[in-house]
Amino acid sequence: MRVRFAPSPTGYLHIGGLRTALYNYLLARRHGGVFVLRIEDTDQTRFVADAEQDILAMMAWAGITYDEGPGAGGEYGPYRQSERSDRYAEIADALVASGHAYLAFDDNESLDAMRNRHRSESNPNPRYDHTTREEMRNSLTMDGEAVSQLLDAGTPYVVRLLVKPGKTVAFTDAVRGEVRFESDTVDDQVLMKSDGLPTYHLANIVDDHDMAITHVIRGEEWLPSTPKHVLLYEAMGWEVPTMAHLPLILSPTGGKLSKRNAEKQGIPVSVSQYVDAGYEPEALVNFLALLGWNPGDEQEVFSLGELVDAFAMERVGQSGVQFDLQKLNWFNEQWLRSKPEAELARRLLPVANERFGCEDEKYLAQAIGMMKERMTMAADVLDAEYLFEAPTDYDEKAVAKRWKEKSSETLAAFAGALADLETWTEDGLEEALKSFIAAKEIGMGALMFPLRMALSGVGGGPSLYSLMVLIGADVTQTRIQRAIERINV
Ligand code: GLU
Repeated sequence: MRVRFAPSPTGYLHIGGLRTALYNYLLARRHGGVFVLRIEDTDQTRFVADAEQDILAMMAWAGITYDEGPGAGGEYGPYRQSERSDRYAEIADALVASGHAYLAFDDNESLDAMRNRHRSESNPNPRYDHTTREEMRNSLTMDGEAVSQLLDAGTPYVVRLLVKPGKTVAFTDAVRGEVRFESDTVDDQVLMKSDGLPTYHLANIVDDHDMAITHVIRGEEWLPSTPKHVLLYEAMGWEVPTMAHLPLILSPTGGKLSKRNAEKQGIPVSVSQYVDAGYEPEALVNFLALLGWNPGDEQEVFSLGELVDAFAMERVGQSGVQFDLQKLNWFNEQWLRSKPEAELARRLLPVANERFGCEDEKYLAQAIGMMKERMTMAADVLDAEYLFEAPTDYDEKAVAKRWKEKSSETLAAFAGALADLETWTEDGLEEALKSFIAAKEIGMGALMFPLRMALSGVGGGPSLYSLMVLIGADVTQTRIQRAIERINV
């Protein structure tokens, strides 16, 4: 098995692109195949300079490694289409010579004129095909001498595929089963542009053939191109690889998840945006794996290795799948919980230092440990500012509602009890607190609420015992005193 991911560097890697890369990778790893990365950079007009770099970086971030491609070598290279031009020209010539393609000299005005002539309600987008090619200036309508003259004069031309009508183009898609297209609906696709560069269609099939690709796995948006590819393979007498078209990714409100409607709904489309937002790579990979594939049982959390073992083309669905950001967040929570606190602390220390002057990785790791079950994103821990500095204000509504006349007095007395405490541990603190309320004959809340307010400034959060252990005895005392002074009711 040889599979490939063939992105065009026309923009940053898209989440849909990462899913395609992932499915190819999983299948290759599962079956001991080879995963090729090929850069399809023939469209000079849409070229984005740092897009290739982004694609490589994002795949590396996600842990998706490839065996052949830019930077990895391989015996089928080069793996950038811009470095393979001669081969496309050679194949285009061969197709013209065998009568499967022809030269067309039409300029834009005559193409527009043709479309205007034929445009009607039943034919809103007239095509260059068996119904119109006779009217145009091409090597089928002109004699050899006229063609030679045009060529000698340097007249720009394109090479078009000669699509014969009345043929059914059929192939078996590994996801969708038998797919049929009538050749009447396929236009005489441009294979070589007037700048001498191939179009996607030509370069794609030449490379898939030359790189011995056995399975073409790509998004459903490429399905309409496939009959053209099948016709090209047939014209060259080459074997058609197994085709597999992955289901569309849909917007939560229905319809294709286009860049525009995604942005409207606050859904990032570039992988780098997920990296910047602080998502765990395992979470995004896990989420994308299940966006179109299901394991057939209840398991949801999968590592990349587990996905390799479980993934099967037969369980890739046909119907579009809705993008659900909440679900991605859920996966992020699951993955965060499985990560060692020390690792997260190492990552977050620079930000913690910048925001709070926190230089103590161990302290940060301890804070993360307390907050882990409550975190969606790793950086959420830094939103709980009281873990790092004394609260500057106290939740007014909560204070108004729950800070009682006796609260200050209770707190002060408890501070006294704490001063005598010998073992500053969670257990020791819990014991101290319980014997304090028992002795005072007050309810748990009568102490817990003012204490929490004093230490954190907010009404909810992690266990107070662990918070006190984290900030230590001295800081606990200062925060209690400060609250007593500041909260006047
Ligand atoms: N270059 C195409 C893209 O940008 C490749 C499609 C295919 O896999 O054939 O996705």
